[in-house]
Amino acid sequence: MNRARRRLKLALALYLATGIATASTFAQSKSSSRSAHEAVAVRAPQPKAIDYDKLTQEATDLLSKYIQINTTNPPGNELAAAKFLKDKFLADGIPATTWEPVPGRGIVAARLHGIGKHQKALLLLSHMDVVPADPKEWKTPPFSGDVKDGTIWGRGALDDKGPGVVFLMSMLAVKRAGILLDRDILFVATGDEEQGGKDGAGWFVDHQQSVYSDVGYVLNEGGGIRVLPNRRVFYSVAVTEKTPLWLRVTASGPTGHSSQPPAETSVTGLLRGLQRLVEYHPPIHLISPVENYFRAMAELGDGPKQWLDLAASLRDPVFQKQFLSAPDHNALVRDTLTPTVLGASSAINVLPATAYAELDCRLLPGSDSKAVLATINKVLNDKDLKTEIVRNWPPVSSPQKSELMSAIQTLARRANKDAPVVPTLIAGFTDSHYFRQKGIIAYGFVPIELTHPDELKGIHGNDERVSVDELGGGIRRTVELLKILGGR
Ligand SMILES: [Zn+2]
Repeated sequence: MNRARRRLKLALALYLATGIATASTFAQSKSSSRSAHEAVAVRAPQPKAIDYDKLTQEATDLLSKYIQINTTNPPGNELAAAKFLKDKFLADGIPATTWEPVPGRGIVAARLHGIGKHQKALLLLSHMDVVPADPKEWKTPPFSGDVKDGTIWGRGALDDKGPGVVFLMSMLAVKRAGILLDRDILFVATGDEEQGGKDGAGWFVDHQQSVYSDVGYVLNEGGGIRVLPNRRVFYSVAVTEKTPLWLRVTASGPTGHSSQPPAETSVTGLLRGLQRLVEYHPPIHLISPVENYFRAMAELGDGPKQWLDLAASLRDPVFQKQFLSAPDHNALVRDTLTPTVLGASSAINVLPATAYAELDCRLLPGSDSKAVLATINKVLNDKDLKTEIVRNWPPVSSPQKSELMSAIQTLARRANKDAPVVPTLIAGFTDSHYFRQKGIIAYGFVPIELTHPDELKGIHGNDERVSVDELGGGIRRTVELLKILGGR
């Protein structure tokens, strides 16, 4: 057997590998398969047609069972879910592995080998943990995974188990159909996202560099296909997020019996400082994804004409006041500083030596944490108030132009008749920043088209659900996107 044929055999063997995964099959595709690419192109069998109805039924069953694994965070207990997803990949011969960063917590990864023409792999990222759900508030038990009237119900249906199933089933579909992609597709489902991701994506990027060192792109939660009330459709692709600057402010004062209080105590000092802070409004700063997002909404007929040029419109005090009165708009154009936690004495008749407040500050990309902290100290204006940083990381954004963005634009043209692709800022944060900090382009985009506006309210709310049709459509579009990005 000559060298080229050996390489071809190796490439196909890796691609079509079945059975139990080993460390070597989980490893990245080596560039040795590059020269085999031309040969494979002529010899590879025609891909089989994908039966999306059957695939959607299988995805529905899988999501129902996945929801039934209770991964409420805290405590998470994602390991059972990680093993569940791993077994699904292994049954189809896709190498997969799990890790247990701390007891009970889990991460799963699976790799669908391409034939290695391009070096940059695509990582399909989701998280397995969910926020708590109070069964008393729900129409169906939140961990039942009930399927009725064409809808899958349960905590995690959209955030983020449904997207995880869409990604997983898309990889299975590509493998089963024998579609050869020019790059590897890596699936990673993390834990601990809902509590900041330290024991999930944070652990993964710090401890498993070799698994993702060939990754150039990440698709994650944070965006998708939105249908506006006027039925116009747009693709929202999150390219950046606000950064948390979580602070603790501590005041000190004399202790003693509160029947004879001095004029100033730790509590009064804290309250006066906080009062100055809540009366302070950080300046408005319009960044380009935000400006472009509002322009796109106006062009789609889902916003007033002032949104066509938001920068100019915001100079009008009347419009500005009305615009900022919507909390979701306000959050997109300025840093926010919000006291959320207060603590002082444990007894009503004891003056506490210290009183504290925790502030959830969210910074726009471009805001400097040190400068914001200096401003906060200036506004607090009390040398007895000490501020310390509880959590913060540098702001990171992904470029708006890339081959992944081009692929999403092609998908939008083909699947939704020229729906605009709108790069966005999200006010919250996801696991994307862990990958952006490593120089990887990460977009918040899962190609599920949400057709029922109520469904978004289920995310972190009650009666979370996704329709079977939306799940199936998500798989169909993800396969299409993989084929576009896979370049064949
Ligand atoms: Zn989520």
